Amino acid sequence: METQTPLPVTPRRRPSSPRVLLRALAAAMLVATLFVTFTPASLSRSLSDQLSLLLTPQAEGEFLPGGTSRPKIRIGIVAGHWGNDSGAVCENGTTEVDVNLRIATLVQQKLTALGFETDLLEEFDPRLTGYRAAALVSIHNDSCVYINDQATGFKVARAMSARDQNLAGRLEACLRDRYQRRTGLPWHNSITNDMTLYHAFDEISPDTTAAIIETGFLNLDYRILTENTDQVATGVVDGILCFINNENIAPTAVP
Ligand SMILES: [Zn+2]
Repeated sequence: METQTPLPVTPRRRPSSPRVLLRALAAAMLVATLFVTFTPASLSRSLSDQLSLLLTPQAEGEFLPGGTSRPKIRIGIVAGHWGNDSGAVCENGTTEVDVNLRIATLVQQKLTALGFETDLLEEFDPRLTGYRAAALVSIHNDSCVYINDQATGFKVARAMSARDQNLAGRLEACLRDRYQRRTGLPWHNSITNDMTLYHAFDEISPDTTAAIIETGFLNLDYRILTENTDQVATGVVDGILCFINNENIAPTAVP
């Protein structure tokens, strides 16, 4: 015979609630255990590959999906006068070619460290013939003789021989904007034929976007060029990166 037991006075829990919770917890633990124990061995190779691809920033990966090496972006740097002549010569013996080479070498090292394929080229480097790269920048400096108080600052000229003048214009604008920001040197508006008709522009492939920069005057800008060479080189690198990465350029006032 059944005896009627009185209902408990305490509020009734919802029936089966703890059991459901326990089951869910057990299932979650099982899944977690499976993941910890068997991943990635139990996952198919392609799935784990896809997962690792998703977790790897695409731009930084050295390999393309499928395992082939990601082609590196090539950039050429010409050290002005190197292998040919001294360029401008200062009274203290400093030569333009030495300053150009120091800047160009730093630019190359910085770009290489960023993962680019780089070439440090002489003024009349045989490799310039038909040279193909995403960008070529030639580095020179201006006179060591005092001209006047305005003979300070930098100049940039694009290769007029480039097939794509939009790209060449962008490289020129990027170098001008970023170099000025980094160094604080003024823009010197005196582009000569030496720059616009620069010999290497006619030697390289017309598909290579190129520009020449005179990073300063060896007279009035002597200190920044020789004592803050790293800052000067970084200004050139900033300009090249602006071009390669298609960065925005703030509009510069027309002088
Ligand atoms: Zn020069």
